[in-house]
Amino acid sequence: MLDFDLTEEHQILERSVREWGAREVAPKIKDLDREHRFDKGILPQMAEMGLLGASVPTEYGGAGMDYISLGLISEELEYVDTSLRVIMSVHAGLNCLSLLTWGTEAQKQKYLVPQAQGKQLSTYGLTEPAAGSDVRGMQTTARKSGDRYVLNGEKMWISLADIADNFLVFGWSDPEKKKLKDPSGMSAFIVERAFKGFSSGTLKEKWGILAGNTGYFKMDEMEVPAENLLGKEGEGFKIAMFALDQGRYTVAAGATGLIRACRDASIKYAKQRKTFGVEIAQHQLVKEMIAQMESDYQASRLLWLRSGFLKNQGRRNTRETGLAKWFATVASERAAGDCVQVHGANGYSDEYPAGRFYRNCKGAVIYEGTREIHKLMQADYVLGYRADKPTRCELPAYKA
Ligand SMILES: Cc1cc2nc3c(=O)[nH]c(=O)nc-3n(C[C@H](O)[C@H](O)[C@H](O)COP(=O)(O)OP(=O)(O)OC[C@H]3O[C@@H](n4cnc5c(N)ncnc54)[C@H](O)[C@@H]3O)c2cc1C
Repeated sequence: MLDFDLTEEHQILERSVREWGAREVAPKIKDLDREHRFDKGILPQMAEMGLLGASVPTEYGGAGMDYISLGLISEELEYVDTSLRVIMSVHAGLNCLSLLTWGTEAQKQKYLVPQAQGKQLSTYGLTEPAAGSDVRGMQTTARKSGDRYVLNGEKMWISLADIADNFLVFGWSDPEKKKLKDPSGMSAFIVERAFKGFSSGTLKEKWGILAGNTGYFKMDEMEVPAENLLGKEGEGFKIAMFALDQGRYTVAAGATGLIRACRDASIKYAKQRKTFGVEIAQHQLVKEMIAQMESDYQASRLLWLRSGFLKNQGRRNTRETGLAKWFATVASERAAGDCVQVHGANGYSDEYPAGRFYRNCKGAVIYEGTREIHKLMQADYVLGYRADKPTRCELPAYKA
């Protein structure tokens, strides 16, 4: 039977993450954002609550929560600040769930267990200076040499690049296929910060998600043991796309939280500010903006919940998750723009959160598939030009 209710466990989780965020992060987020400072002190607290290993089974050090829980956490975290949800996207979503699905038992024991326990932080390195939407344009190479691969290349715009311990990295392992831009020549690797030849830095010019870390890393004749190949040689592109199904899910749920944050801030302000003798909330055009936020919030939430439901059942959800990500992120940009508008000139000041929401929302309209790429994908699905093919490994269904 169709059921729109959250379970009691879900409600408890939602409430506890909401209360933690309001208590521990909300009071200092304005300062962290202004100072462009990533607060590492937040991580042990997130680990303590099991958030960093949310949907990883307990036998691999995780909290054994279902995928709806991962969405709820993402929504609550981004309600406070996008930088918090980004941690969930790259670490818990893109990296941990890829290791869970494609990793060998030894890889899971060595990397997934400490990551899910929150003892090590991880991220995802696909983008390069000259390759974003066009993944096949990447230049990173992985040359096989005995029992190792030697990686050379640079990854750019990587969340947590200067913070993470482990990286899921993609590069060309087949030089002939690189020339032909045939993605079956790409492979995926688990890379440790400690590997010789690895270096990273922070992007200083970024103007949003300022309490988060975004940077680059370089690999200069960096040797990676052959046992750190994730999946088989040549499966890198498939793993990269698989990972995005998980990351996009957290981005969709997070953007939903951002819309709710915009709605709540707008309601608060609209009931305080008076013009022409009445609260601005009494003006129909202000009501219109708030009504749009409410409808965008509810629709976005239903879309990500459907993806979570499919994930729990072990069903393919690339199409549904892409739609949820596209809709929610575009809607969050609309909500953030209107949140600034409702606040008038005060929305243009960092005294209120509206400006931070406005700067933060835009990243998600770009990363994990731009607005345009998602629009094309959804058009191609309905036109029958695109259909998802089964992959060798699928995200495991949730087992209670
Ligand atoms: C804050 C932030 C965090 C990020 N974190 C990560 C991370 O952790 N790991 C990671 O690997 N990457 C990360 N990225 C990178 C992100 O995934 C890329 O920026 C994204 O894939 C877009 O690539 P691009 O910037 O090279 O834009 P481009 O691909 O150059 O696109 C530029 C413009 O052209 C449009 N365009 C491109 N191709 C087409 C087409 N075929 N049809 C129509 N329009 C098109 C795009 O939609 C866009 O509007 C992050 C980015 C940001 C901003």
